[in-house]
Amino acid sequence: MHDNELKEILDLAKRHNVWRRSECINLIASENVTSPLVDAVYLSDAMHRYAEGLPFKRFYQGTRYVDELEVRVSRIFAELFAAKYSDVRPISGTIANATAFACLAKSGDEAAVLPLPGGAHVSHSRYGILGRLGIKPIELPIIPEEMMMDVDGAVKIIRERFPRIIVLGASVIIFPHPVKEVSEAAREVGAKLVYDAAHVLGLIAGRVYPNPLEEGADVITTSTHKTFPGPQGGAIITSSDEIYERASKIVFPVFVSNHHLHRLAAIGVASLEMREFGQEYASQILRNSRRLAEELHARGFKVLGEKWGFTKTHQVLLDVRGDGGGAKCAKALEEANIIVNKNILPWDGPSDIENPSGIRIGVQEVTRIGMREDDMIEVAGLIYRVVKGREDSSEVRRRVIEFRKNFTRVHYTFDVDVRRIAEEIGSLILS
Ligand SMILES: *Cc1c(COP(=O)(O)O)cnc(C)c1O
Repeated sequence: MHDNELKEILDLAKRHNVWRRSECINLIASENVTSPLVDAVYLSDAMHRYAEGLPFKRFYQGTRYVDELEVRVSRIFAELFAAKYSDVRPISGTIANATAFACLAKSGDEAAVLPLPGGAHVSHSRYGILGRLGIKPIELPIIPEEMMMDVDGAVKIIRERFPRIIVLGASVIIFPHPVKEVSEAAREVGAKLVYDAAHVLGLIAGRVYPNPLEEGADVITTSTHKTFPGPQGGAIITSSDEIYERASKIVFPVFVSNHHLHRLAAIGVASLEMREFGQEYASQILRNSRRLAEELHARGFKVLGEKWGFTKTHQVLLDVRGDGGGAKCAKALEEANIIVNKNILPWDGPSDIENPSGIRIGVQEVTRIGMREDDMIEVAGLIYRVVKGREDSSEVRRRVIEFRKNFTRVHYTFDVDVRRIAEEIGSLILS
């Protein structure tokens, strides 16, 4: 009996790996792949251990090397963003937000946030952790066609309402948010500005996207696995002594007990990769997203942000209302092994959630496996064939699988013998 069940589990694991690792064009904007070197340090004995609290002040024994790692990695990670501090213990971006919100506001306070159809993450909303902390969202106005904040409208609301915190940064984001202007208004009314960089962290590290801390944000909250190619997890980055001290007393014991210690070395290696190759990687991401948007536009797609050149992030947003809607298109694309997600756009109402107007595409992962501008022509052509050409998905799928054979390794990482290193450090990848 257990033989069969074991076989089934192994088989499902294998089918997932083969399909998503080697047969799909993965265009989910919140995903990425880690390098083999990151994988080698990630699959470590540290994944079995516990270490509550701060380095050298733990509630468990056995953490002497993990403590040292956490101190070093937090410093390297903070330095990438020219910040004084980082706390890499939050185990996800949502937990980083929970910590920052609880640190800077209390129940009954107001927070100025983007609306969900304007790209905000659910954790910034009444349905997510912000709402559950009793913080009341005030929605800032947006310019629908660009998924962009209406700066004048936002500043006016901030001056009228005196929110305790303001949250910028989003899950659906094609242009940088106006951090500088909003931070000036924030300072006038004594509000703290949180920038949620979950999506664009790798672009900030690569210096192709403005650093929110340099533009006046008080704190960055983030995931570490979207455009930043680290292990799945979260972090808080700030140069404020006060915010760092207070936030670190909230991460543990409030939102995290153990912080999944194998992430530490993995974030460290990913940070060093970004220090070395980040600018090259992030620049290629922007060239690819721009080119993909242009190619899709040229094939008759309605691409958001046309007025400002479609995108200055890893994302391309399509309005596919005329092609059957986001759900139908995303499903047809999945049949062809092109993985994207349906997304609500500013003009969608509550009745559109099942089949929203949009498709969100991210090029950070295909860029990491080596795709360049010319490959975006192929990708646009494949998307066209499914969505507008109404070609049989299995036909297109054959071509997708062929095309993927040209991209078999992770780029923008160190040229080292990973097998040898894995052996040397006792990585579980080999055990
Ligand atoms: C993905 C995302 C998060 C949440 O990150 P998790 O690591 O999945 O919890 C938070 N904020 C924004 C803007 C995001 O896009």
